[in-house]
Amino acid sequence: MIEIRNLHKSFDHLHILKGIDLEVQGGETVVIIGPSGSGKTTLLRCLNLLEMPTSGTVELGTRTLEFSPDKSVPKSEVLALRRETGMVFQSYNLFPHKTALENLMEGQITVLGRSKAEAREKAQHLLEKVGLADRADMYPHQLSGGQQQRVGIARAMAMDPKVLLFDEPTSALDPELVGEVLKVMKELAQEGMTMVVVTHEMKFAEDVADKVVFIDGGVVVEQGPPAEIFGAAKHERTKQFLNKLN
Ligand code: ATP
Repeated sequence: MIEIRNLHKSFDHLHILKGIDLEVQGGETVVIIGPSGSGKTTLLRCLNLLEMPTSGTVELGTRTLEFSPDKSVPKSEVLALRRETGMVFQSYNLFPHKTALENLMEGQITVLGRSKAEAREKAQHLLEKVGLADRADMYPHQLSGGQQQRVGIARAMAMDPKVLLFDEPTSALDPELVGEVLKVMKELAQEGMTMVVVTHEMKFAEDVADKVVFIDGGVVVEQGPPAEIFGAAKHERTKQFLNKLN
């Protein structure tokens, strides 16, 4: 489904991603962990091209994009790849002047060209799925952080992405609201959605991930099934990182 090869990203002279190789199979949930500043968010943003990789290859489904510093990827290719990924942000990023339902309809109509009726039906179905059918007509400021984030997830799903990318989806939430968001994510994973999740929620990684990827200093230090990473990490850097959390 996704294959990333030798991905590099620099911001001016700052070399942040230093040759990332990563595979995500269809239906898998891959959780990315690592210290602050290691490049997790940058990697996720390079996957849906909110940031342009400096060099390397991103393959998603049948689409392969090659990046190099001296030639830019055609805009049409960028938009096509972006359409196949749904992003859930730490800070929800909902449209403040649109209701929950309208937030879910907007992209379907403007980007995918769906009719209003079709978009509304899909939006209602997805709000129901994330347990917010009764909040459809509320504005973001009338919703709790957990509810806003569930709208954020439903909004990403409304675009029928091939893969959902989560950038620390629970880190802005009060602790008592984290569970409801993780529950929705777990259900999606169990339904076979392909997901790449950057998170500090190690319990979620242990319970839900098919694969955990530990990134440090812009490289993948170690990856494997959760039992292996959390129970028998091979690399000293992974062990140190996990020890500090306990
Ligand atoms: P955290 O867990 O704290 O969110 P992270 O692993 O997600 O960290 P990134 O957000 O990917 O880390 O940042 C990696 C490095 O890249 C940081 O040093 C950051 O300052 C730098 N960086 C990220 N975006 C930019 C940018 N647009 N311009 C310059 N530097 C950037």
